[in-house]
Order: sequence, then C-alpha cells, then structure tokens
Amino acid sequence: MAILPILEYPDPRLHTIAAPVATVDESVKTLIGDLADTMYAAPGIGLAATQCDVHQRVIVIDTSDTRDQLLVLVNPVIKRADGEQVFEEGCLSVPGIYEEVKRAEHVVIEALDREGRLFTLEASGLLAVCIQHEMDHLMGKVFVEYLSPLKRNRAVQRLRKRRRERAPA
Ligand code: ZN
Repeated sequence: MAILPILEYPDPRLHTIAAPVATVDESVKTLIGDLADTMYAAPGIGLAATQCDVHQRVIVIDTSDTRDQLLVLVNPVIKRADGEQVFEEGCLSVPGIYEEVKRAEHVVIEALDREGRLFTLEASGLLAVCIQHEMDHLMGKVFVEYLSPLKRNRAVQRLRKRRRERAPA
C-alpha cells in the first residue's frame, strides 16, 4: 500500500486515454489498494488511475460519510444514462476549484470488482456524478473542460496562483 502522487491540471498526462484491464491480477489489486489509500489520504470521494499517471481503466470511489464503503470499478461501461442534474464538482487534480457541471441524474453501469467479477450498479445523485466524473478521467477529460473558455481560464489562473503561494519563494 502506498500513497501515489496526483497529477494536477493542466498536466498533459491527464489527457491520456486509459487502456482496459486484461485481467485483475496481483498488480491490478496493488494498484486498487494504492488508489484507495491515496483517495482516503487526500481526502477525496473518487480517484481514477489516470490521475496517478497509471493509464488503466481503474476507479475507486467512496461517497459514504463513514468512509468505509469502497467501490472499485475496473473497466466500467455506462449501459444507460438518463435525466439531468447540476452539481458543484471538485477534483483532486484541480485543487481548490469548484464549479457546476451538468450530468445525467441516473446511470446504470457494468464493471469488474476488485476480484475481477462482473457486476451491475444503478446510481443516482452524488454517486452518479462521481462515477461520470471519474469515467471522464479514464477518457482523458477533466471536469473544467465542461466550463466556458472564460471560466476555465479563470480556474487555471487561480490554480497557478495557488501553486505560486504554495511554492517557497
Ligand atoms: Zn477528478
């Protein structure tokens, strides 16, 4: 188990398209454990492997208040999406930036779990938002790319300012 470094927008590696996992073997299980550790330590409610510069279709999510309901999605596929919701999203790769994004209200997905077993999951509300947000990462997309160019530029400038303030003079 290890805490992995998280790439920050606009790092071009965040635009890499992840490859499907062929088999959930020991190396994938180690990756899942590391992603979970990294997400809980951040803390965050979701993390895609892409954000840790590992370009495989693996996501970890925990939207529970108790932080003990780890959801692992390997090779997730959206089978159905309907409705609409607007949610103020944040992202561990875009620290300190929160913006409203419109997404499907309800999704049905298929994925493999951490043992490599296929399962179906229906989600709505926050969990549906989180799944769609993390699946975007696997396709190389970061949520700020849904914003207007003006809002996106403002977000990038705020990120630069944050980084300058964090870096020693
Ligand atoms: Zn994100």
